[in-house]
Amino acid sequence: MAEVSRVERAPDDLFLRIVAGDVPATIVHSDDQVVAFEDIAPQAPTHVLVVPRERYENVAELAAKAPQVLARLVEVAQRIADERCGGEYRLVFNTGTAVGQSVFHVHGHVLGGRDFTWPPG
Ligand code: 5GP
Repeated sequence: MAEVSRVERAPDDLFLRIVAGDVPATIVHSDDQVVAFEDIAPQAPTHVLVVPRERYENVAELAAKAPQVLARLVEVAQRIADERCGGEYRLVFNTGTAVGQSVFHVHGHVLGGRDFTWPPG
């Protein structure tokens, strides 16, 4: 059986629509592999989402299928944190609804600019 493409499995992928420019967002970085934009409901002074241009459901799938894209995503996250919060930040990949994943297109949350507690709630 032919593999169903990632786009066909997720016709309503919000982040693909942001990457395509069909849904407005404040873009802070864009290259051939990843796009970064401001989270619509920021949880810290810096709260940027970094996403691959193509859809992978979570970070494990991205690591297995496109490790070079994951490396770029982390590089861009670091660059944003260097520019905005002195390189001190939290990079979060939620995986699964139980821990808060609501958009099933992998995204790194770059969070910084305030003190954080541990463990996270
Ligand atoms: P998750 O809960 O999947 O880890 O993270 C999804 C994130 O996407 C949330 O932090 C949420 O605020 C953000 N988000 C949801 N809808 C939109 C949107 O339309 N635009 C932007 N820029 N962020 C969104």
